[in-house]
Amino acid sequence: MADIVDTKTPSNFIRAIIEEDLKTGKHGGRVATRFPPEPNGYLHIGHAKSICLNFGLAQSFNGTCNLRFDDTNPAKEEVEYVDAIKEDLRWLGFDWQDREFFASDYFDQLYTLAVRLIKDGKAYVDSLSAEEIRQYRGTLTEPGRESPFRKRSVEENIDLFQRMRDGQFEEGSHVLRAKIDMSHPNMLMRDPTLYRIRKAPHHRTGEQWCIYPMYDFTHCISDAIECITHSICTLEFENNRALYDWVLDQLALPCRPHQYEFARLNLSYTVLSKRKLIQLVKEGIMSGWDDPRMPTLSGLRRRGYTPEAIRNFCERIGVAKANSVVDVALLEHTIREDLNRRAPRMMGVLRPLKVTIENYPDGQVEELDAVNNPEDPAMGSRSVPFSKVIYIEQDDFREEPPKKYFRLAPGREVRLRYAYFITCRDVIKDPATGEVIELRCTYDPATRGGDAPDGRKVKATLHWVSAAQAVDARVRLYDRLFVKSDPDEKVDGKTFLDFINPESLEVLDGCKLEPALGNASAGALYQFERLGYFCFDIRESSPGRPVFNRTVTLKDSWAKITQNSRKTP
Ligand code: ATP
Ligand code: MG
Repeated sequence: MADIVDTKTPSNFIRAIIEEDLKTGKHGGRVATRFPPEPNGYLHIGHAKSICLNFGLAQSFNGTCNLRFDDTNPAKEEVEYVDAIKEDLRWLGFDWQDREFFASDYFDQLYTLAVRLIKDGKAYVDSLSAEEIRQYRGTLTEPGRESPFRKRSVEENIDLFQRMRDGQFEEGSHVLRAKIDMSHPNMLMRDPTLYRIRKAPHHRTGEQWCIYPMYDFTHCISDAIECITHSICTLEFENNRALYDWVLDQLALPCRPHQYEFARLNLSYTVLSKRKLIQLVKEGIMSGWDDPRMPTLSGLRRRGYTPEAIRNFCERIGVAKANSVVDVALLEHTIREDLNRRAPRMMGVLRPLKVTIENYPDGQVEELDAVNNPEDPAMGSRSVPFSKVIYIEQDDFREEPPKKYFRLAPGREVRLRYAYFITCRDVIKDPATGEVIELRCTYDPATRGGDAPDGRKVKATLHWVSAAQAVDARVRLYDRLFVKSDPDEKVDGKTFLDFINPESLEVLDGCKLEPALGNASAGALYQFERLGYFCFDIRESSPGRPVFNRTVTLKDSWAKITQNSRKTP
C-alpha cells in the first residue's frame, strides 16, 4: 500500500479522494495519474497547473504519472509540438521515465473494442450527414430522435465499419455511434460519435488509418489500458464523465479508472486557449510560441520565469472545483519573490545620459566594491569600475525638478550607488533641439563607498555605469499583452485581438550595462538595480551586443493588494 510520503503539499479535494481510496484499498493501494496533452500547440501556464497536479499527486503518494499524447486528430497535430511539450515538461522539473505513451499506439486495440461494442449491439454505423445528426440530437429541452440507421443489424454494422476502415467511403458519409439513449438528459449520451472518417495522414501512424476514434472513446480506454487510477481533467469535461463510465462499463477491461474534474486556470490579462495562442503565432502577432509575452512555458522561460516560480505559483493557486480567475499579479509576485532571492544585483542604464565628473582625474579607473545580493550574503560582492565619464538614467535628472523629485537637478547633490556623492554644476544641451545631452558634475572624494564622513545626507541614490567599460546592449521591456482584464469578454463584436496592448513590447538600443553583464550565459537572471529583473536572451544576442528581456519590474502590485486587504477589517 502506498504511503503518503509528502505532508507538506497543501491538501485539496483530489488529494482527499486519493487518501480515502488508499484507505479503502480501492485500486489495490495504487496511485497512477497521467498528463494527456493534445500535441496541437505548446504548453501554457494552464497546463502547468494540470502537470503539477498530476505529477505532484504521483510524487506525494509513491505513484506514477504517465505522459500520454492525446493524438487522435491527424489534421492538427505535429511532431514539433510533441518535442516542445517534452522539453517544457523536463524544464518544469518532471520526469515520466519510460512512461511515454501515445493514444495512437492504441488504435488497433480501440478498433477491436469498437467491433466488440458493435457485436454486443451497443454501437452502430450511422449514415446521416453531420447536419442531420445535429438536428436529430434535439436540444436541452427536447429529446432527440433516433436515426433511421440505428436499427441496422450487427452484420451490416460490422461490414460497414470494416469498409470505413478500408477507405471505401468519403469523409462524413458514415460515423460509428454508441447506441445509448436519444432522449438522455445529458446530450453527450445521445448516441455519441465514436469514430469518424478522416483521410489525413497521422504524424505517427501515417496512412495506416482513415478512421479515427473520438476523444470520449479514446481517453477512457487509454486510461484503462495504462491502468490509470485517477484520471484528472478540467471542469468542461464534467458531462463527459457519464460517457467515460458508460464506455468502460460496457467493455469491462482489466483496470477501471475514474475521472475527476477540477477548475482550469484562468488568468487575468491573458488568453489560455490553444486555438487563440495559435492564432497569435500564425498571424505573426507574436514572434513565435516562445515570444516572451506568450503565456506558454517556452515564452515564460524566455521571459525569465524559473520552473521553481511556476511550480510555486501552481501550489499557491490551489485546486478547486469552482471556476475562478487568478490575478496575473500573483504570477508576477511569485517570480519576483523567487528572483529576489536568487538574482545577483547589477547596474545597467536603459536610457543613458552622459555625466562628466570634472574634478575626477583623467584616465583614472577605480574598482569599487558592490554587493551582489543583500538578501544573500553568500553571494558575495564584485568590483565595478568607476571613472570620469559615466552614464546615469535620463529620468534621474530634471532641469526643473517638480516637488518631491529628489534625484539630480542643477546644483543638487546625490549619491552614486557604491561610489561617491556628486553635485550637478552645469547642463549641456544640444543647440539644435534643446535636449539635455550631458551633465557636468563634481564629486566629493571623501564620500567613497557612498557615505559622507561629515554626516551630510542626500535624498537620492542613483545607479550608474562607467562609460569606457560599459557593455552596449539591447533591452526589451514588456507589458501585459492585453489591455483588458478579460480579453475574451464579448463586447460589440470585438475579439481578443482587438484588446492587444500596443505597448506590450518596447525595444531599447544603446543601453549601457556594467561590464560583468558582457559575460552572461543563456538564461542568466539579474536584478538591474531600480529597474527590475532581467533575463539574458542568448538566441537574440550577438557577440559584443547582448540582449536582455525584462522579466518583471520591481513594483509589486500583488503585495500591495494583499497588504491593503489585510488592513480592511
Ligand atoms: P485548450 O483549451 O487551451 O486548447 P486543451 O484542454 O485542449 O487546452 P490539452 O492539450 O488537451 O489542451 O490539455 C492537456 C491537459 O491540460 C488536459 O488534462 C487539460 O484539462 C489540462 N489543461 C488545459 N488547459 C488548462 C488550464 N487552463 N488549467 C488547467 N488545466 C488545463
Ligand atoms: Mg483537450
